[in-house]
Amino acid sequence: SSYPSAARDDDYSEGVPFAMPSSYQSGYMSIEKQRQSLPIYKQQNSLLYLVENTSTTIVIGETGSGKTTQIPQYLVKAGWADGNQLIACTQPRRIAVQTVAARVAEEMHVNLGLEVGYSIRFEEISTPGVTKIKYLTDGVLIREMMEDPLLTKYSVIMVDEAHERSVSTDMLLGLLKKIQRRRPELRLIIASATIQATSIAAFFDNSKQRQLVDKDKSLPSRKPAILSVEGRSHTVLIHYVEEPVDDYLRAAVSTTLLIHKMEPSGDILVFLTGQDDVDAALQLISDEAENGSEGIFVLPLYAGLPRSDQELVFSPAPRGKRKIIVSTNIAETSVTLEGIVYVVDTGFSKQRFYNPIADVEALVVAPISRASAQQRAGRAGRVRPGKCFRLYTEDFFMHEMQAEAVPEVRRSSLVSTILQLKALGIDNIMRFDWLASPPAETMVRALELLYAIGVLDSDAKLTSPLGLQIAELPLEPMVAKMLLASAALGCSNEVLTISASLSVQSIWVSGKGRLKEFDEARERFAAAEGDLITYLNVYEAFLASKKSAQWCHQNCINFQAMKQVLDIRAQLSRLLQRLGIPLKSSGKEIQAIQKAVASGFFVNASQLEVSAEGDLYKTVRGGLKISIHPSSVLFRATPKWVVFKSVMLTDRHYMREVTAIDPAWLTEIAPHFFQCRK
Ligand code: ADP
Ligand code: MG
Repeated sequence: SSYPSAARDDDYSEGVPFAMPSSYQSGYMSIEKQRQSLPIYKQQNSLLYLVENTSTTIVIGETGSGKTTQIPQYLVKAGWADGNQLIACTQPRRIAVQTVAARVAEEMHVNLGLEVGYSIRFEEISTPGVTKIKYLTDGVLIREMMEDPLLTKYSVIMVDEAHERSVSTDMLLGLLKKIQRRRPELRLIIASATIQATSIAAFFDNSKQRQLVDKDKSLPSRKPAILSVEGRSHTVLIHYVEEPVDDYLRAAVSTTLLIHKMEPSGDILVFLTGQDDVDAALQLISDEAENGSEGIFVLPLYAGLPRSDQELVFSPAPRGKRKIIVSTNIAETSVTLEGIVYVVDTGFSKQRFYNPIADVEALVVAPISRASAQQRAGRAGRVRPGKCFRLYTEDFFMHEMQAEAVPEVRRSSLVSTILQLKALGIDNIMRFDWLASPPAETMVRALELLYAIGVLDSDAKLTSPLGLQIAELPLEPMVAKMLLASAALGCSNEVLTISASLSVQSIWVSGKGRLKEFDEARERFAAAEGDLITYLNVYEAFLASKKSAQWCHQNCINFQAMKQVLDIRAQLSRLLQRLGIPLKSSGKEIQAIQKAVASGFFVNASQLEVSAEGDLYKTVRGGLKISIHPSSVLFRATPKWVVFKSVMLTDRHYMREVTAIDPAWLTEIAPHFFQCRK
C-alpha cells in the first residue's frame, strides 16, 4: 500500500526539501481500505434505500465519518448521475469545496474538473456532460437558481454542514423546500455534524399536504427520514485553565509549545479567530522554534489560503517532526485533518453581529458556543485518545457560553439575501419560509436600504434596469451599485479593478510579524483618497511589474490574490459587456472614482467629530461613533467625510476600506436618502 496521494508527488519534486517518509507508507492504508473503514461505509445500503424512498434524508454523523466525501460517490454508483444528471453537494465555505472536490477526484482516480468538479464564486471547474458530482458553495447554488429556478440539472442535492446554519444554508433550505413541491422526484440529503435533526425534519415534513401527485406510487415518501452514522472517536481528556487568560493569542502559543515539550508524539491543532491571528501565532511559534523548540512543522489554515498551502496541511509532517496546524474556525467541522491528538481551543471565533438600531453589521471576535467547543475537542480523538486544552475556565464554559450558536440569519444584515430572494421572484419576503425566521426589523432595514440605493421601487419590486443589473452581478449590492454608477461617471475601467480587489480575501500579505516592512510597502501605494484608490495603485504597479511574484513578495502583496484579481476582473468585464455597459477610463481623474465609490456606499457616509476620545466618525445612518482602523491608509489623515465598506468590532468599532468623499456629492447622489434625514 502507498500513501494515498498521487498529486502530491509533484509538490515534493517542486523543491520541498524532504523525501516521502517511509514510516507513513506503512501507516497509511490504501484509498480503498480507508474508504471501507469509514463509519458511513456500513450504512451505505440503508442510506441508498432511504434516498430512493424518501424525498428528504437527514444524515447525522460526526466530522470524519465520511459524509462529504463518500455519500456523493455512493450515489453515483447507485445510478443517480446516469443520463446526464448531476449530484450537488453544498458547503458553506469555499475552501472546503476545493479541498473536498480534490480529495474525491483523487479517490475516484479522475482529474479534478471531469467526473468530479466544483464551483465557487468566480471559479467553475466542471465539464458539462462529464461531471457527475459537483461540490459548490450554497451561495453559488442559489445563484444557479436565477437561470434554472427548479435546479433541473440535479437529481440529488446534498446540503452539507447544515449545523453551521449560515445565512445561505438557511436560505437554501427554504428555497429547496419550495422546489420540492414542484419537483417531487428531487431528492434532498441534509448532512449535519450535530443533532438538530428534529427541527430540520419537521421543516421538511410535507407528508400532511395532500396533493394529486401523491397518488403516483413511484414518488418518494414526503416524510423525512433520519439516518445516524455511528461514530468511532476516542475519548478526549479536557483541561481548563484555572484563571482566565488575558491574551488568548500568547496563551495559545505557550500552550502549544508546552504540549510539544511535555506530551508524546501526535499533531496539534490550534483554534484562533482569523488570518491575522493565525499569521501572528505562526510567527511567534517559529521565533520560539529558533530558540530551541526543534522538531516542529507549523502550518496555517484559513479561508484565503493558496491551494499549494492547502495541500501541505493535509499531508503528513516530515519524519521526526510534529505537525502544528494553526487554524481559524474552518477546522472545527468543515475539513477533516488526520493525525490530530492535541487541540488548543482559545474559545473564540470571528462572528457576524448586526445591530438593527444603528444599522451596522460588524465582525466581532466573540466566545464560541458549548456545541462548538465540543466539536473542537472532538478533533483530538480521531486516531487515538487525545487531549483538549481549553484556554478558558470551566466556569466560563458552564455558565457563560451559550449552548448553541444563534443562527446567522438572526445576527446579520440581510441586504444581499433579500435582494437575491427578490431576484428569484419571491415577492412576499415577509412570508418566506425560514428554518428560523430573522427579526422583522432586520428585514425592514434591508428593504429600506435596497430602496435607498435604487434597487427596489416603492412597491418593493426590483427596478429596471438598475435593480435587475445589480442582482445579476455576483457582487455585494453596494459594490455592484458602485460599479454600475461608474459607467456614467466615465471610470468603469478603474472601478472594475476596485470591485475585483474587493472580491478577494486580501491583496496584502498579513502585516503581523513584519509590521514595519508592511507599513513601508503600504506607504508606497497609499492614495490620499483612501484604501479603494490604493488598490488601484497596487494593481497598476503589479501590471507594470509584468505580474511578477517576486515583486509581490518585495511589496508585501499576496501574489495569489493578485492573480485572482486579474481573473475576477476579466469575468466582471465580460458581465458588464453582456449588460451593455461600456468600459471607460477616467485616467488621472480620481474624483470621478471617488464619486462612484460614494454612489455605492453613501449609506455608510460618516462625518469626523473631533473629541477628547480622539478622532471619531459619526455615521449619518444610525449615529454610531466609529474610528478608522489602523490598517487603513487614512488612519492618520482623518478627512472630514468618509464612506466605508465594513466594520469590525474589538475594543471599539473600526471602519475598514475607507474612502474620502465630499459631502456635497451626497445630496446629489441620493437626494431622497439625505433629505429625509435632515
Ligand atoms: P465528514 O464529512 O463526515 O466530516 P469526510 O468525508 O470529510 O467526513 O472525511 C472522511 C475521511 O476522508 C476522513 O476521515 C479522512 O480520512 C479522509 N479525508 C477527507 N478529506 C481528506 C483530504 N483532503 N486528504 C486526505 N484525507 C482526507
Ligand atoms: Mg464533511
